[in-house]
Amino acid sequence: MAINRPLHPESRLVHAGSLRSQFGETSEAMFLTQGHVYETAEECEARFRGESQGYLYARFSNPTVEMFEQRMAALEGAEAARATASGMAAVTAAILAQVSAGDHVVAAKALFGSSRWLTDELLPRYGVETTLVDGEDLDQWRAAVRPTTKTALIESPANPTLSIVDIAGVAEIVHSVGASLVVDNVFATPLWQSPLELGADCVVYSTTKHIDGQGRCLGGVILGAEAFIQAHIFNFLRQTGPAMSPFNAWVMLKGLETLAVRVRQQTASAGAVADALASHPRVSKLIYPGRADHPQAELIARQMRAGSTLVALEVKGGKEAAFRFMNALSLVKISNNLGDAKSLITHPATTTHQRFDDAARAAMGVSDGLLRLSVGLEHADDLIADLTDALDRT
Ligand SMILES: *Cc1c(COP(=O)(O)O)cnc(C)c1O
Repeated sequence: MAINRPLHPESRLVHAGSLRSQFGETSEAMFLTQGHVYETAEECEARFRGESQGYLYARFSNPTVEMFEQRMAALEGAEAARATASGMAAVTAAILAQVSAGDHVVAAKALFGSSRWLTDELLPRYGVETTLVDGEDLDQWRAAVRPTTKTALIESPANPTLSIVDIAGVAEIVHSVGASLVVDNVFATPLWQSPLELGADCVVYSTTKHIDGQGRCLGGVILGAEAFIQAHIFNFLRQTGPAMSPFNAWVMLKGLETLAVRVRQQTASAGAVADALASHPRVSKLIYPGRADHPQAELIARQMRAGSTLVALEVKGGKEAAFRFMNALSLVKISNNLGDAKSLITHPATTTHQRFDDAARAAMGVSDGLLRLSVGLEHADDLIADLTDALDRT
């Protein structure tokens, strides 16, 4: 029977997009096939002409991948979604698909390291000029946009400093010159922030993070209005081929079923951890978007439904102290992933932001004592005990 009430996100995460085969399986089927057979040559011709509905080839579409795309679209409130092989495939396609030589792109400085490689190294090689701005400063956005600006890229909260960009404010500025806004929403998750409702044109995720949620597979997804996806994304992905594998799509579908319970619990634990560490004498700065002392608390209240599963903290004593702290942890593991069931800690200055010089790192707020903590599903009290014991020994 068809469901005719609007569903809450939790219910959409479990049911949206399910395509049952003739066997009526409960769990989504994994269609590990790169192609499909046709009853007749005429049917094959009609499929290729787009006159008959159906699958052709896994670089274009696949039933398991389509279930994942439809579930993501239903969760995000987007008209269309296209899955990709990784988060970086999603970011790269979302930007490259919109620009040609001579165009201009504006991006916030505080971006995932590989996204900065795209803006700083790759786009200029193809004749696309990039201007980097302080994402938080709307005056810099106003000064940066030009008639040739085609698109803009931001992350909010940004990696790793958890600084916030005013999504509605930036959308209005870039729209005034006819450009689009792409938001990398990984840190907020679809649960706590809906960029499309705030005026963004395109949302991208690395599904490697909270959507898988258990550190198994790489994946990405691009979401937006049907017209945006059709105009820019659909053909670009189809021809260039960064497709998500059906196996990974199946893992992501299973991840989505538990996304809401995991992210809600991880956010609650992150808040408890942040409160417990904020006043520790070895901590010089603690940034958590769910705390009243976040410098942008008012903006967070306006555009997010809750904080984050990540906490940024700076220990006194620079790199040496940060390393002593990390090495003294036992429950929290040293890793560069995030959104995982396991709590993970990263030292951005020597890992994700290693390739930047000191001045560029400083401009992004990445100090030598800064650590990024991704809070997992362990009991908050165990995490607090592990973290405070290690800080006491730092
Ligand atoms: C991890 C991450 C990416 C890249 O995703 P991959 O799946 O590793 O390619 C992009 N943006 C943000 C904010 C990320 O955390």
